[in-house]
Amino acid sequence: MISSVLKRFRQSIALHLLTTIFSVYFLVAVLVTVVQLYKEYEDTKAKFYKEIQTLPATFNRGIVDSVWTYNKELLQSILVGMHNLPIVVGIKVESIDHKMDLQIGAVLNEKNEITYYDSSGKVTEQKEFGFGTDTLFKHEFPMYYQGAAFDHKVPLGQVTLYSNNQLVFDRVKYGFILILINSIIKTIALWFIIYYFIKKYLGEPLEEFTTKIRKQDVQSPQAIDLNIHWTNTNELLILKESYNQMIRRLNKHKLLSITDKLTGIFNRLKLDKVLNDEFNRSKRFKSNFGIIIIDIDYFKRINDTYGHQVGDQVLIQFAKILKENIRKIDVLGRWGGEEFIIICPETDFQGTIKVAQSLREIISTYEFPIINTISASFGVSIYDGDENIDQVIARADNALYKAKENGRNKVEGY
Ligand code: GH3
Ligand code: MG
Ligand code: MG
Repeated sequence: MISSVLKRFRQSIALHLLTTIFSVYFLVAVLVTVVQLYKEYEDTKAKFYKEIQTLPATFNRGIVDSVWTYNKELLQSILVGMHNLPIVVGIKVESIDHKMDLQIGAVLNEKNEITYYDSSGKVTEQKEFGFGTDTLFKHEFPMYYQGAAFDHKVPLGQVTLYSNNQLVFDRVKYGFILILINSIIKTIALWFIIYYFIKKYLGEPLEEFTTKIRKQDVQSPQAIDLNIHWTNTNELLILKESYNQMIRRLNKHKLLSITDKLTGIFNRLKLDKVLNDEFNRSKRFKSNFGIIIIDIDYFKRINDTYGHQVGDQVLIQFAKILKENIRKIDVLGRWGGEEFIIICPETDFQGTIKVAQSLREIISTYEFPIINTISASFGVSIYDGDENIDQVIARADNALYKAKENGRNKVEGY
């Protein structure tokens, strides 16, 4: 059960299309996202540099004043404040006389190794930072004192600010995760929407088509109708129409091959098949069927007197009368020339005789145009456990011969 559902799912055109489309889409999306992420990372990093470069303007005055006045407490509180900024991971103040040197946070030493200092400037164990030296980048700016008593700047040392690529990445990462979740949700939604519509508009009509073709009766295939959502010309409609056209042509061809051209009733080819089928069926179910062979009396005279064309019209009308006066289950056909045959399934001898007699009566009283009245002779036989169908036919033929001999316009049974 589940495996058959899975199999049908795998065979679905919607799924195949979607797998292909979304594999390509996924690759493109990943590529675009990677490029986007890289660009974002570079932009953010540049922004960090810029932000860091604006810091001296804000803090320089305070730092310089505290260094100049040897106010370590003030310097420390300024550095702690700077360190609290999210883009700053460490600050190093180096004064020329080294009396006001102070480091807070993650700072690089002379060997370019990372060293950690607490808020009072003491070396501490690494705790809040989980990154290597190479992820730190720095910005240095000099300290000058320019008081009212000096006409030139007094160099005091320099300040180094440290920031961290990890911070850049964290900031980008947050945006990136949002983009990722956003696009995953969108992709899944899109997947279902496309799947739903491809299945509805393409998969289902195709499946319906297949089912209906499979269900066709090979003997008499019929034109089919499909629930197609678009009425404008499309491939599905064209496919369906082509199929139906083929079926119609096939049926027409089949019909022509079993129909007598003149009268429109079954021809000899079809009659042979019906007789054989009926014979086999009756044999198997041990039932009866009757046959009536009908021959128009003195038909030659009609041709001779009124011409072949009138003769044809009589044959057409004659067949029509027979057709209109037999039961639905009875099979009528042209046996040849002006001879006709009726096969009566599930009918015993008396029943068949009755059919023949009623037809003889109708024919003999029917007013034909031009020729007025005609008559016909009827030979009746039934299947009676015979060896083959020819025996049944031969008996009907003999009966017909007898009807002719007995003066025509008669029903004879064998
Ligand atoms: P009966 O059966 O009563 O003995 O006399 P009949 O004149 O009908 O005898 P027969 O069977 O010899 O003649 C049949 C005639 O039917 C001969 C043939 O020209 C004519 N016929 C056969 N097929 C057609 C046809 O398709 N159209 C026309 N107009 N005549 C046909
Ligand atoms: Mg004849
Ligand atoms: Mg005849």
